[in-house]
Amino acid sequence: MKTTGKVNGIISNIVIVKADGAVGQNEICYVYAGETKMMAEVIKVVGDDAYVQVFDSTRGLKIGDKVEFEGHMLEATLAPGMLSRNYDGLQNDLEKMEGLFIARGSITEPVDFEKLWEFKPLAKVGDKVTAGAWLGEVKEQWVAHKIMVPFIMTGNYTVKSVAEAGEYKVTDTIAVVADGDGNEYKITMVQKWPVKQAIRCYTEKPRPSRVMETGVRAIDTFNPLAEGGTGFIPGPFGAGKTVLQHAISKQAEADIIIIVACGERANEVVEIFKEFPELIDPHTGHKLMERTIIICNTSNMPVAAREASVYTGMTIGEYYRSMGLKVLVMADSTSRWAQALREMSNRLEELPGQDAFPMDLSAIISSFYARAGLVKLNNGETGSVTFLGTVSPAGGNLKEPVTESTKKAARCFYALSQGRADSKRYPAIDPLDSYSKYLEYPEVEAYLGEKIEKDWVSLVYRGKTIVQRGKEANDQINILGDDGVPVDYHERFWKSELIDFVILQQDAFDDIDANCPMERQQMMYKKVLSICERDFDFVDFDECSKFFKGLINLFRQMNYAEWKSEKFYDYDKQIDAYIANH
Ligand code: ADP
Ligand code: MG
Repeated sequence: MKTTGKVNGIISNIVIVKADGAVGQNEICYVYAGETKMMAEVIKVVGDDAYVQVFDSTRGLKIGDKVEFEGHMLEATLAPGMLSRNYDGLQNDLEKMEGLFIARGSITEPVDFEKLWEFKPLAKVGDKVTAGAWLGEVKEQWVAHKIMVPFIMTGNYTVKSVAEAGEYKVTDTIAVVADGDGNEYKITMVQKWPVKQAIRCYTEKPRPSRVMETGVRAIDTFNPLAEGGTGFIPGPFGAGKTVLQHAISKQAEADIIIIVACGERANEVVEIFKEFPELIDPHTGHKLMERTIIICNTSNMPVAAREASVYTGMTIGEYYRSMGLKVLVMADSTSRWAQALREMSNRLEELPGQDAFPMDLSAIISSFYARAGLVKLNNGETGSVTFLGTVSPAGGNLKEPVTESTKKAARCFYALSQGRADSKRYPAIDPLDSYSKYLEYPEVEAYLGEKIEKDWVSLVYRGKTIVQRGKEANDQINILGDDGVPVDYHERFWKSELIDFVILQQDAFDDIDANCPMERQQMMYKKVLSICERDFDFVDFDECSKFFKGLINLFRQMNYAEWKSEKFYDYDKQIDAYIANH
């Protein structure tokens, strides 16, 4: 019997419910405003008063209205058929709901329960299995979607039967397993998992060692993101966070991409919907949308649903990771999520922390980022969830609590600077403030040494030093004037500009320049670095700046030329001749 209750108080979308039985923290319930059924989550329980937050507008709700408790937490439905869907934060299918503006109280199924899937067994009768074990697979788009022992079944089981190869609905029984006492459990292709709890069915979570290529030079070359790693992109409004994340979502070398559009402007999100179905994945040749799930809560959706969306995205990511896949989860922006936490906490009149955010904001963000990672599954395979979030600090102030807390949690920091955005140096990733801690990992160094070339990481640091020294020289020139410093200073400055214009800047709206494969990055970077490490002995600063301006111009054109095309090699030769002529 389900616990029921009656509405006893309403504070915006927080509703106080007199419950007639036991109610658990974070339990899901439905609040009935007349005929309209609205989902809500228990966020506080005091005696028989349950404080629930309704994921919808509470307009018209009355004291005495009926509430039904579900006996479980907010869950994601995990099954084949999620890829290429657009969900809201509660996993309602947005396509079935006529676009972004969901009618109040509407709830849809997250997957198709009628569709038949071609099932292939992987397990045999007698196999010993536990949570996450692969019992079989179905082809979802081009992904081998594993049908797993549900994550809640953490004990030891023996396979009693497995369905033969053939077509099945997701709700059909595809295996029966028995526990030590002989109790049998039927397994289907659908499982449910509470989104706020990490899925843990792996033996180990080793440190990330491989790099996830994104095609963005300022990231891959200068501050690489690890597969199973974490990173975040803070930046003021208009600095290019969304453009950068979109570029990464199109280009990243991942099997599955999950984009959580969390409380950003609705029109931007509509753009993803329009653009994505047309695009082709450069790594596989398949349609990008076939590997993508978009979870989208725009700013016109209720605040409470925003908080859920990042968890839903992460949970779906962990699910696909358990199949041995490389998953990239991105959220834009996690500040909206933090603001949702703040609004809830304030409505509950909790003792506030800094800037009225909840006291445990830092812990909430850390434990969320900690769900990302490279894992070794029980069967020896590996899978990964890489997480990249944006943060939009008010007024671009990087000292605010969300940025500071995220900095503690994420290993890569891609700081977008207002100054760079203003001077159209895109992507506006600040080369000096930004970092990737993965460059310091010996595992990553070894990987890059193998994959790109020996001592690659030391080459990267050499480039960073040139940029740093260029900035220092520029500061001196600004104070003392062009003639007030030795020509050397100009040379140093222009060398850092060469790295900036050729390597760090990249046109996200050019078909060729937008996506730079690692092999091309390596070649360009080494060519630039070898020039930067030469001594030119210019007679005056005029000669120096002319030389570098001409050089930058040639390199920029080379960046726009197709990789390994005749034009590309032609620029390569022109550059060599240009330098020889100096
Ligand atoms: P944010 O999400 O930080 O508010 P956006 O990603 O929407 O900012 O970017 C704002 C604008 O900046 C874009 O519409 C675009 O004109 C420009 N822009 C950002 N990044 C790039 C880029 N890599 N190349 C060219 N233009 C860019
Ligand atoms: Mg944005």
